[in-house]
Amino acid sequence: MEKKIRKNMMTVSVIIALITYIACSLTLYWTMMISLDREIKSISVQIASYLADDKNALNSLSIFSESRITLINEDGTVFFDSIKDSATLENHLNRPEVVNAFKKGEGRSLRFSTSLDSQTYYYAVLLSDGIVLRIASETQSLNNIFLSGLIVTGTVMILLLITAVFFSKKLTQNIIRPINQIDFNDPLSNTTYPEIRPLLENFERHEKMRKEFSANVSHELKTPLTSISGYAEIMANGLVKEEDIPLFSQKIYDESRNLFHKIEDIIRISRLDESHLPAQLEDVNYRTVIESVLGHLDQQIQTKQIHVQTVLMNVTGKGIISVVEEILYNLIENAVKYNKDHGSISIKLYDDAQKIYIEIQDTGIGIAKEDLPRIYERFYRSDKSHSQKVEGSGLGLSIVKHGLALLNGEIHVESELGKGTTFRVIFKKKP
Ligand code: ADP
Repeated sequence: MEKKIRKNMMTVSVIIALITYIACSLTLYWTMMISLDREIKSISVQIASYLADDKNALNSLSIFSESRITLINEDGTVFFDSIKDSATLENHLNRPEVVNAFKKGEGRSLRFSTSLDSQTYYYAVLLSDGIVLRIASETQSLNNIFLSGLIVTGTVMILLLITAVFFSKKLTQNIIRPINQIDFNDPLSNTTYPEIRPLLENFERHEKMRKEFSANVSHELKTPLTSISGYAEIMANGLVKEEDIPLFSQKIYDESRNLFHKIEDIIRISRLDESHLPAQLEDVNYRTVIESVLGHLDQQIQTKQIHVQTVLMNVTGKGIISVVEEILYNLIENAVKYNKDHGSISIKLYDDAQKIYIEIQDTGIGIAKEDLPRIYERFYRSDKSHSQKVEGSGLGLSIVKHGLALLNGEIHVESELGKGTTFRVIFKKKP
């Protein structure tokens, strides 16, 4: 964290120093050029009035300024230059400032001499007698201004970076201290950072669910174990008549199988909780999976004389076969378990370009409206619909939900008490 804060502070410091440096250099250059222009212009006014009085006083023009002063005839020939011999100078009619002076009364231009690494500012004005007066002054170029500010900016930048290192350490300590002081027995009592409240709420919710799960597991396992040990104790004390022994043994057998199923479900759900989607997914043939699940449930289907109707397209997608099997087994098993004798189940399987749709519809006991939002909770079993008479752990739909979360799938349910239930599952072809 300290590293990240330090890096961010350093980056921000460098950016601020650079922006300040560029802004200052540009402002300096801009102000310098404006004042130079103003100065040259006022000199040109003085020279113009001086020349109006005495046209021959050319040689004393240098008293007005150290800048180069040039006078140009209408045809572009130079007839006076304060620095060079006017006879050696070429025609000036093509100089932009001169062109503009003849055209508009005044003209400016800026020329950069790479050989001298200097910049000259030219100002030209048309005088009343048709000649052009040009004043040229060397100025600092923008490059020079940038370069001259480099040492100061560099020093400021180093100072800022040192400050950033120092402050990032202090800042990190100040930010981290309240986080380390969070009381995880009562996370929401922490009020220092409202920004981390969602995280703490999440933590508290998970903690509550974990505690509830442990309490539920203990309770769910204790119930069949109490029955088993109760029956066994009665038998051990010789309180059971000879002819009742098979009945009691059967009860012990049933309860231990019930216990076994619950433990299996708990292991499954814990495994799904810890699973992550593997990088390499298997090819899942959904029709094959549904047919295999129906095969496994055949005996229960026959016992209840349930009519199963399927419309299954040959659909494949990427996934984890064992997880898809687990999801569909739990849903179809519920459709059988919570069905009425002679009831029916309809299973449809189809797809589109990206998704696979499975619809499992039964004509069973249905689920009460108020129970619907809770059926995916661990150990939740609805009793409004008399489903408690059916053997189960209340973990089946929770396994379904966890499996679908792992495969990025969805589940929707519609149900009417006494009429039946429809579960719609959507798998992604490429989760
Ligand atoms: P269980 O082991 O009790 O079947 P599940 O998690 O699979 O646990 O289901 C939770 C509850 O949802 C069940 O106890 C039952 O009340 C209800 N339920 C699930 N599927 C159906 C269904 N097809 N028809 C009626 N009720 C259902």
